[in-house]
Amino acid sequence: MKDMNQPKFRAGQIFAWLCRGADDFDKMTDVPASLKEELAARKFRIGLLMPEKVQISALDGTRKYLFVLSDGNAIESVFMKYKYGNTICISSQAGCRMGCRFCASTIGGLKRNLTPGEMSEQVMAAERNTGEKINHIVIMGTGEPFDNYENISSFIRIMTHKSGRNMSMRNITVSTCGIVPFIEKFADDFPQVNLAISLHAPDNELRSSMMPVNKKYPLEELIPACRRYTRKTSRRVTFEYTLVKGLNDTDSHAVQLAELLRGMLCHVNLIPLNKVEETGFKTTGRKRAEEFCRILQQNGIPSTIRRELGDDIDAACGQLRLGRKK
Ligand code: SAH
Repeated sequence: MKDMNQPKFRAGQIFAWLCRGADDFDKMTDVPASLKEELAARKFRIGLLMPEKVQISALDGTRKYLFVLSDGNAIESVFMKYKYGNTICISSQAGCRMGCRFCASTIGGLKRNLTPGEMSEQVMAAERNTGEKINHIVIMGTGEPFDNYENISSFIRIMTHKSGRNMSMRNITVSTCGIVPFIEKFADDFPQVNLAISLHAPDNELRSSMMPVNKKYPLEELIPACRRYTRKTSRRVTFEYTLVKGLNDTDSHAVQLAELLRGMLCHVNLIPLNKVEETGFKTTGRKRAEEFCRILQQNGIPSTIRRELGDDIDAACGQLRLGRKK
């Protein structure tokens, strides 16, 4: 605003309007006409993300959005209704370069990082489309949030800003495949934002075969970082564990997992694998998943099986991908 010779508070006014979902400068009633003209002259525009495609689950009303970005890259986001409110799962990158073998998001590699604005717009666009307010955000769509740390940080600051949406940090969750240095930084920067770690295996050999990131940040670095996180923040870590039939779902895997996490303030979220045609992995049946969950609990690890929403529209965990399925 400085080089436009405007007082600082004008920026705050415009920010508040944008956070309320204003799609046009003309609707900003407390912004003077002269400033609106100047914004137009300087070619400022409000970058609205319009869904190119909306799929609605017949099972549970979950909505999956396909958005095409200004450079032609496509991303997906998912709107979900829970008893405690509406949640959006947003993407942090177009594509992903982490290479997890069972996940659809990584198939085309990484295209680019999303900007904080593009992340915010996923929230706003879903609100415009549903006419409903979103009160929880999970950064669990396509991409690795800690591979785009600066931008997800700005996004979180925008969503929680007092003169904007004023969301509670506690209503935001970031999920990472385990980029250790950023776990430390995240604990310092955002001690109230929820942290989820995609674990998926209790030993290095198996984890590295499923998730290449484990070669760089193996369990003997990841797990102590998580323990430090819980000590620093006094908050529990959620571990996501995708169950793959015959690969990581036996009784001894459960016992080993309980051993690995012993004494940590944590919770294990078991996710029976969702189908991704290209991968060839098979999902663990309900009974096996329940048994796995029981073993964890018996060994003192709080654990639940995640209820999957939107499976019929490929909107469940690991099914989001870059652009349209061929
Ligand atoms: N890159 C981040 C954010 C993605 S979150 C991360 O890895 O945490 C998406 C979650 O779904 C991750 O826990 C991921 O491991 C899991 N997932 C990936 N493919 C899956 C599949 N086919 N079935 C079930 N969960 C899957």
